[in-house]
Amino acid sequence: MKYVIVIPDGCADEPQAVLNGQTPLQAANLPNMDRIVQMGVCGRSNNVPASLTPASDVATLSLFGYDPLQVYTGRAPLETVAMGIPLGPHDWAIRCNLVHVDNEQMRDFTAGHITSEDGAPLIAAMQSAFGGPLPTGDGSSLRGTLEFHPGVSYRNILVYRGSADAPAPFTAATKTQPPHDIPDRAIADYLPKGPGSELLQDLMAKSRSVFAQHPMNLARKARGEKVATQVWLWGQGHAPSVRPFTEIYGPRGAIISAVDLVRGTGMLIGWKRIDVPGATGYLDTDYAAKGRYGIAALADHDLVCVHIEAPDEASHEGRADAKVKALEEIDEHIVGPLLKELPKYGDYRILVSPDHRTTLRTRAHAYGAVPFAIAGTGVSSAGQSSYDEGTAERAALAFDPGHELMRWFLG
Ligand SMILES: [Zn+2]
Repeated sequence: MKYVIVIPDGCADEPQAVLNGQTPLQAANLPNMDRIVQMGVCGRSNNVPASLTPASDVATLSLFGYDPLQVYTGRAPLETVAMGIPLGPHDWAIRCNLVHVDNEQMRDFTAGHITSEDGAPLIAAMQSAFGGPLPTGDGSSLRGTLEFHPGVSYRNILVYRGSADAPAPFTAATKTQPPHDIPDRAIADYLPKGPGSELLQDLMAKSRSVFAQHPMNLARKARGEKVATQVWLWGQGHAPSVRPFTEIYGPRGAIISAVDLVRGTGMLIGWKRIDVPGATGYLDTDYAAKGRYGIAALADHDLVCVHIEAPDEASHEGRADAKVKALEEIDEHIVGPLLKELPKYGDYRILVSPDHRTTLRTRAHAYGAVPFAIAGTGVSSAGQSSYDEGTAERAALAFDPGHELMRWFLG
C-alpha cells in the first residue's frame, strides 16, 4: 500500500464577500481534490486542542497522528530538528523572528519576507552582542549560554543551553505571543510573561539598537525594502520525545516541505526529509517541482507527505485572490499528478487536509475543525461532490481529537 498526504497549509477559511460569499476552497477550481471527495469521502477533523494555540506546530502533530497534549513542548524545538541543532535535556529552543515594528505596532512578522542572506548578518550581530555565557548575577551560580542560529528567511532560532546545576529559567508557565497573530496590534500588550520573560523582553528591547544602524538594514532601506527593526522571541520549548511513526503505525514516511517546522516535525517522527529546489515556503514556490519530487519519493517510501505553505501565507496577507490561486496550483501541479501516479503502485490511499484554519478576515490562525478528503483502496464513495468547508460541515465522518484521523486513513 502507498499513502500520500497533501497539506495545503491554513487553507480552511470562511465565506468571503470578495469571493461572492464563497470560501477560498469553494471559489477555487479544484477538479482533483473534488475527484478525491467524489471517489471517497470528505470529513472534518479538529487538530487543535482548546488548551493550545492554533498553529502548524500543534496541528501538524495531530495530522501526523500524534496527540499534541502528550508530545507538544513548543514550536522552536520542532524547527531545530530540521536545522540540525541538537538539544540536550536542559536546553530550550526559542523562535527568533526578524520583525518590522513601527509606531510600537507589529507591522510585519516577516520583516518584508527578508531573505536568508539578508537575515543571517542580523542574527550574527545578535550572536556577537548577546551570544555566549550569560553574566552571572551573584558571581557564584552557573548561568546558561545563549546561541543565535540563522534559519530560513525571518525564521531564526535562539537556543538557551542550560545544565542540571543551572536550569533554564523557562517553564510551561512562560507565555509568549506568535507575532503572526497580532497584525498591526500594539506590541506592548503581547510581550513575554512569566518565568524567564525578563530575559526575553530584554533581548527583544536591546535588539532594536543592534539593528537600527546595521549595514544590512541600511542597505535594505536604500533598496526600498522593509527593515528588521528587532527580534521577536516566542515558541519556546525543550526537546520533545516521541515514538517513531513506523513503530506506531508501520509505513516508512518521507516529508516534503519548505518550512523547517513541518520538516522538523516529520523528521522527529522518523520520516525522511526530501528537499525540493525551488520550494520557497511562499506564494512563489515551484508547485510542479514539489509534485515531481512527491512522485519520485513514492518509489522508495510507503508514505509521502507534501506540505505547501502558500495558502497560509496568502491568508496572513489577507489576499483572497492569492489564496485561491495557491489552491488551484496545488490541485493542478501536486494533487493531480500524484493522484494519477498512485494507482500504478496497486493499493493506495490519498489524504488532502490542511493543518489548521487561517482566516482572511483576521489574517490569523483560528480554532475549529478543518475539512479533509480521503480516497483510495477500500474507501467507498460517500456520495459527496466537492472538497470544501460546507461538505465537511455536513459530513458524517468527524475526528475530534484530530490525531485519530491517521489510524483511520491508514486503514
Ligand atoms: Zn500561518
